[in-house]
Amino acid sequence: MLDLAIIGGGPAGLSAGLYATRGGLKNVVMFEKGMPGGQITSSSEIENYPGVAQITDGISFMAPWSEQCMRFGLRHEMVGVQQIVKNTDNSFTIKIEGGKTELAKAVIVCTGSAPKRAGFKGEDEFFGKGVSTCATCDGFFYKNKEVAVLGGGDTALEEALYLSHICSKIYLIHRRDEFRAAPSTVEKVKASEKIECITSASVDEVYGDSSGVNGVKIRLKDSTIRTLEVPGIFTFVGLNVRNEILKQDNGEFLCDMEEGGQVKVNLKMQTSISGLFAAGDLRQDAPKQVVCAAGDGAVAALSALAYIESLH
Ligand SMILES: Cc1cc2nc3c(=O)[nH]c(=O)nc-3n(C[C@H](O)[C@H](O)[C@H](O)COP(=O)(O)OP(=O)(O)OC[C@H]3O[C@@H](n4cnc5c(N)ncnc54)[C@H](O)[C@@H]3O)c2cc1C
Repeated sequence: MLDLAIIGGGPAGLSAGLYATRGGLKNVVMFEKGMPGGQITSSSEIENYPGVAQITDGISFMAPWSEQCMRFGLRHEMVGVQQIVKNTDNSFTIKIEGGKTELAKAVIVCTGSAPKRAGFKGEDEFFGKGVSTCATCDGFFYKNKEVAVLGGGDTALEEALYLSHICSKIYLIHRRDEFRAAPSTVEKVKASEKIECITSASVDEVYGDSSGVNGVKIRLKDSTIRTLEVPGIFTFVGLNVRNEILKQDNGEFLCDMEEGGQVKVNLKMQTSISGLFAAGDLRQDAPKQVVCAAGDGAVAALSALAYIESLH
């Protein structure tokens, strides 16, 4: 039986692996269906990780993380996990793609989340080259420039306000007449001189060239097209939390979840099920930053160490 199974090999999973193995656990496997590193490896630039002053791309940034964990004995199995089940003896069964299973004393789930795509032309082509889903990550690259923001919920409006402190102008595009965000946030947005709200409109296309985005074509209520010559668009149209592996055969989740599908945890990253921990982007209230996911992973591993110790 494994001491600890870590599911997902992004910043949360790798930090959990480092702290668990360095903390003395001998039999720790990180199940990561791809190469370790997580979603940040799709980013061309990261410049907000404390202590790393040099701007680097996501792949180069994450490479030493797995190297460091492996040195302390973390094993990586490049397989997708399908389901986690708690057994009557308090152990967990990890059901792996292809029918294999593993038993573990404790599990840390670090499967992350993925922003939903809005579905306009050019979105995939220019993702990471002008199309972004993270204002905290990429806003600074548009300092004193005009940008577009797509969405009408809390995240979109809060991110538009965040960008208004960095960029010269924000075009906030929303498909409905009214915003869905909290009234106080809507008020702040409407009061901002830097934000122009374009409602009842949708993005038709993002266009550009090899250096990135040059503009956005939006379709207005009367079906006319308006072109915004901006070098960047931030889209906030929802998140897919990768929580499928916690779903049980009866359709219910193994542990308590938020309405939006995020895993409920306490400050120790403990879920409602003892021995099951969650860390990183898939937990409730996650700030969706590498530094936070890494911190979560470390906390979850320390809690798992204490839990495993308590079993003796
Ligand atoms: C383009 C882009 C730019 C970003 N820029 C920044 C930035 O500048 N600064 C910053 O701090 N943050 C940035 N972020 C956010 C940051 O990448 C995330 O907050 C962070 O990666 C979350 O880490 P995580 O470990 O929780 O999840 P993830 O990084 O999402 O890792 C989860 C891992 O789990 C694996 N997985 C999922 N399901 C399974 C399964 N069933 N079986 C096995 N493996 C599975 C996935 O393959 C993935 O590798 C950016 C994100 C993107 C997409």
